[in-house]
Amino acid sequence: MFVKIGLSVVVLLSAGASASAPVDPLTVPIVGERTAEWLAPTPPEKLYGNTYLVGFGGLSNALIDTGRGLILIDGALPQAAPMIMANVKRLGFKPSDIKYILSTEPHFDHAGGIAALTRDTGATVIASPRGAQGLRSGRLADDDPQRAYAHSFPGLARVREIRDGQKLRLGNTVVTAVATPGHTMGSMSWSWQACEARRCRNIVFASSLNPVSAEGYRYSARTSAGIVAGFKRSYAAMQLIPCDVLITAHPSQSGSNSRYVEGPGACKAYAEASERALADRLAKERGR
Ligand SMILES: [Zn+2]
Repeated sequence: MFVKIGLSVVVLLSAGASASAPVDPLTVPIVGERTAEWLAPTPPEKLYGNTYLVGFGGLSNALIDTGRGLILIDGALPQAAPMIMANVKRLGFKPSDIKYILSTEPHFDHAGGIAALTRDTGATVIASPRGAQGLRSGRLADDDPQRAYAHSFPGLARVREIRDGQKLRLGNTVVTAVATPGHTMGSMSWSWQACEARRCRNIVFASSLNPVSAEGYRYSARTSAGIVAGFKRSYAAMQLIPCDVLITAHPSQSGSNSRYVEGPGACKAYAEASERALADRLAKERGR
């Protein structure tokens, strides 16, 4: 049975379960036009030092082995949770060693799987204050440009909040929270150093910065001023962030076909692409 929860997204309630098998409410698939592309199976791989990729062809998940537990970034869709844990195991790690799950944004495609992942690993979920609100409710915020889609995902009972610039320490790793609002006002990017021998590289896991919306939303409206100001703040943050390797929440957002982009200009180019897209959108809305 399909339940329509948005313009292009449906929840598949019976999800391949036989009459006798109990349905796991936290991994009930959310299926949309792009789900198959987002969740294209991809082998897990080591990126650099203690940093690994455990996500999919069209959705990123990073894993950091701090020596005193694992940190996972993002949870993809609800049905992706078991696949993420399988990828963690394929690398030789135990999902129960995941201590923290960091969230980039409270949307179903990046946060839908977090409820199942935290239940199954015991991990603490960490997000920005506005991101935490969205993760608890499992619903889009009133000021979300995609609000009219009314997407939802399994909400969380407990989320720890972290503010812009705060650092999370675990084992050999310090992850810095970098607020990157705009796409959602709770969006947060994450940065840390991964080292091999004496060479350390600055890794950035960047939240989505694309100025997309539900139909009828206007970025040029007075009520959208906070969103536009948020994007500007994110562009400034991305210009300043130490960035040797960029992982974007959807790999394709980095403008390449690979799972990450290397080079000091990667984060700047990412911000500039969003800046151009937002400028185009505003110009179109204002009739140029
Ligand atoms: Zn999103």
